[in-house]
Amino acid sequence: MPYNRPSSNRQGPRGTSSQRGAAGQVRKKRTCRFCDNKEDYVDYKAEKKLQRFVSEQGRIIPKRITGTCAKHQRMLVTAIKRARHLALLPYVSDAVK
Ligand SMILES: [Zn+2]
Repeated sequence: MPYNRPSSNRQGPRGTSSQRGAAGQVRKKRTCRFCDNKEDYVDYKAEKKLQRFVSEQGRIIPKRITGTCAKHQRMLVTAIKRARHLALLPYVSDAVK
C-alpha cells in the first residue's frame, strides 16, 4: 500500500449497509435460554438440549436466530463440537441435497 494512514488500523468505513426490514420473518422473543435458566455452563452430554441449536443438516444455528447471547453461544458451540466428537450429534446429517 503506498498510502499509510498515521495511527489508524481501521479497515475502511463500515456500517453504511442499510438495515433490511424484517419482512416475512417471524419475530420471536430474543432471550438467551441459558441466561433465563441461570445456567453458567452448557453441558455437552445433554444432546437433547443441544439438538435445538442445531439445524436438520447438523449445522449450528446462529445466535441471531436462536437469541442466545454471545457468551452462551460460544459455550454452546464448544459443547456442540464436543458432542459431535462423542457422536452424540452428527457432523452432517443424512439429509444432504
Ligand atoms: Zn446467555
